[in-house]
Amino acid sequence: MKRIGVLALQGAVREHVQMLEFLDCEVVLVKQQNDLQQLDGLVLPGGESTTMRKLLNRYELLEPIRTLAKTGLPMFGTCAGLILLANEVVDDEPHLAIMNVAVARNSYGRQVDSFEVDLNIPKIGKSIPAVFIRAPHIESVGDGVEILAEHEGKIVLAQDGHLLGCSFHPELTKDTRILKYFLSSIV
Ligand code: GLN
Repeated sequence: MKRIGVLALQGAVREHVQMLEFLDCEVVLVKQQNDLQQLDGLVLPGGESTTMRKLLNRYELLEPIRTLAKTGLPMFGTCAGLILLANEVVDDEPHLAIMNVAVARNSYGRQVDSFEVDLNIPKIGKSIPAVFIRAPHIESVGDGVEILAEHEGKIVLAQDGHLLGCSFHPELTKDTRILKYFLSSIV
């Protein structure tokens, strides 16, 4: 059984936990440094990245998560979680700065703060529902980063080795394919 941590400071924590348990994972809610022990993977959920950053500082989790990323622990960031992973955040400070992408926040305008589309993701599957909520997009990727999906010309899912990041919320649908893809990268 895979032991997957879900960063549980703020945001869409419960939905990730439910989907991971449905996929037969043991789930650890990560709220402090001790919770990071012996994980096979870590999910960083969506929410509000500036709030999460404050809490990462308060609970002294930033450096330990960076260290785990350097040792190769697979991590999956969704929406605000992607913003936390990114090396660069347009017009803002980076946070964990471990994934070789630049992201821009709130990329889809005020009128369309929230919408759902079906994505065809060649490596994962067809018609995968994707929920965007005040979503970021990936503005550019660095060397070695694979672009897995785009929507209207913007990159919305990319993989940097053991790090996977998407603009949207796969955990808010019943479609488990993206999470399964992440889990399949864990040996
Ligand atoms: N707009 C949020 C941020 O900048 C992300 C939104 C989300 O995670 N749904 O942190």
